[in-house]
Amino acid sequence: APVDLHRVVDDVIDLTMVAAQQKRLELKVDVPDQAVLALGDAEEIDRVCANLVSNAVKYTPADGSVSVSVEMAGSEHPDQVVLTVSDAGIGISQSDLERLGTEFFRSSNPAAVAQPGTGLGLAIVRRIVERHHGRLEISSELGKGSTFRVFLPAA
Ligand code: ATP
Ligand code: MG
Repeated sequence: APVDLHRVVDDVIDLTMVAAQQKRLELKVDVPDQAVLALGDAEEIDRVCANLVSNAVKYTPADGSVSVSVEMAGSEHPDQVVLTVSDAGIGISQSDLERLGTEFFRSSNPAAVAQPGTGLGLAIVRRIVERHHGRLEISSELGKGSTFRVFLPAA
């Protein structure tokens, strides 16, 4: 069924607001005026967004910033929409990037280990994205921040 990514982001931001405020994080949300509709399961897409935003908030030091945006994927992929969650946080090393999304994998980066977690969030994201025949792109630089882009079929 069509899932309105605008609604998905609004709901997740609502749930994240308090945690973000406690760390004085700037939460930037960028959604277009027109609806951006993905084809898929609403609860699963909510979970994808919630897990990515939860990580961004968790792995960004106080006073940092987190951005969430949704858009049509553009002329090269007119049949896709994209959800982007990026942070100016602790970043992920090249070797960790290769194992990210493996069940129970957590970085040994001391700044990451200090945060609680089970190492399942990204494995769940991967599984859901695969089920939707979508694609997850991750780019990151240690100490600078990370960007997670989820491409999903447009409805
Ligand atoms: P949980 O199961 O509660 O989500 P988790 O956050 O540790 O636990 P994942 O969400 O799967 O597990 O993330 C795996 C690991 O990837 C994290 O432990 C962390 O080291 C790293 N990571 C994930 N997102 C980010 C991010 N935005 N910035 C830096 N490191 C990240
Ligand atoms: Mg997580």
